[in-house]
Amino acid sequence: MKKKESDNSMEKIISLCKRRGFVFPSSEIYDGFAAVYDFGPYGVELANNIKKEWWKAMTQLRDDIVGLDSAIFMSPKIWEASGHVKGFSDPLTECRKCHARLRLDTLLEEAGVFADEKMTEEEINLIFEANRGKIKCPVCGASDFTPGRKFNLLVQSNLGNFTGDWTKEPTYLRGETCQGIYVNYKNVLDSARVKIPFGIAQIGKAFRNEITARQFIFRTREFEQMEMQYFVKPGEDMKYFEAWRAARWQFYLNLGISAENLRWHKHENLVFYAKEAYDIEYNFPFGFKELEGVHARGDYDLTQHTKYSGQDLNYLDPATNEKFTPHIVETSAGVGRTFLALLTEAYREEKTGTLEDGTAETRIVLKLAPKLAPIKIAVFPLLKNKPELVGKAREIFDKLKLTWRCEFDDNGNIGKRYRRQDEIGTPYCLTIDFDTLENSEVTVRDRDTMQQERINIDELENFFRSRI
Ligand code: ATP
Repeated sequence: MKKKESDNSMEKIISLCKRRGFVFPSSEIYDGFAAVYDFGPYGVELANNIKKEWWKAMTQLRDDIVGLDSAIFMSPKIWEASGHVKGFSDPLTECRKCHARLRLDTLLEEAGVFADEKMTEEEINLIFEANRGKIKCPVCGASDFTPGRKFNLLVQSNLGNFTGDWTKEPTYLRGETCQGIYVNYKNVLDSARVKIPFGIAQIGKAFRNEITARQFIFRTREFEQMEMQYFVKPGEDMKYFEAWRAARWQFYLNLGISAENLRWHKHENLVFYAKEAYDIEYNFPFGFKELEGVHARGDYDLTQHTKYSGQDLNYLDPATNEKFTPHIVETSAGVGRTFLALLTEAYREEKTGTLEDGTAETRIVLKLAPKLAPIKIAVFPLLKNKPELVGKAREIFDKLKLTWRCEFDDNGNIGKRYRRQDEIGTPYCLTIDFDTLENSEVTVRDRDTMQQERINIDELENFFRSRI
């Protein structure tokens, strides 16, 4: 279902996230901390459900992928071997009038000029010079910029350095999770009884000193990645690459994202080692942007780590006795971007009736797939001040919570409670009234149809099991 109701849907989503406890700006009581966000009570549930679905798709439903949780900190040599210390950078320019620091490739792209972050400083400055007239500062409108310079995105730290000057030999907060996979490839091979082709999946935090961090949780300086590296025999890369493209596309459809809001973006300007690279883009309120990358990386990663570590990372094929460096197909997704795509997809404003003064009565509802909804079932006693209703409602809540994430709510009238649950995407609300005490039936209200039906308490578990 296509859903771009208004130009300000981003503001509406941000406002809902704050109001209903999905996402909070970091350090808000200290005036905030740029490009970092916190997940609130419902946000953490949604983010966990996204990760659960990814982990299930990658590990539980496959017998050729194993999991890993490597540490955020690693030897700084890893980031030299991977090329991050020298080359993990974006082109930066500064507006001379308002001093906003901006990503030059994005500025050029937004002005319709082809550029990307992989260009050298010289290349991108040539393009910049030729197109200066077309480019205005998005903050103040001026067009007076400093020349572009490459800015390294790795975040440095003093971990394990007690010299007082750690800037000379910094350690790094990882800029991507996959390096932890490459450097554990041999450990996994030797311990997990895997044979090529096989994959290693990992979910974890990554850190980047992003130059411009607009667009809410789309681009943050601390974020979480869901990465899977699939090790294949040289020459078989493209077969698995195509299979992974299909699988990753299907994953988003399974989360309830509509195909019309997804598209492929093929990388035209490949890094020298890559064989092929595509991104899955989602139609965010600010346009189609990258949600996940699917990349055929050749043997670059293991070759680099072999060279820098001096360890033999070759694979000995037990069937043929052939020795080779595996090639890698990577799928790399972001938790925050999936979260934002799902909210964009699920957010609706619906007319529910007409008020006495003739104006439309509306509701905001998040039509999230039940498996992703932060709360699956909300349990309401009809009245807060009737102990027999509250007691019965508690009894039902205590039973259902053993299987599903439930919420007990006895605040305000039932209509208000429904609205609140609609806004956080709860698929079912269950009300205990005086009839329940007589006939053991409760009212179950469906979020999407708003239809209500009476269900016997003994039937509830079966009812929800078939629907959630
Ligand atoms: P972009 O071009 O948008 O900066 P990227 O190509 O640098 O992204 P990758 O390095 O391929 O991104 O990272 C894989 C995935 O990690 C991305 O598809 C995205 O979902 C997520 N990701 C990367 N950078 C960020 C960020 N700063 N904030 C949130 N998610 C991110």
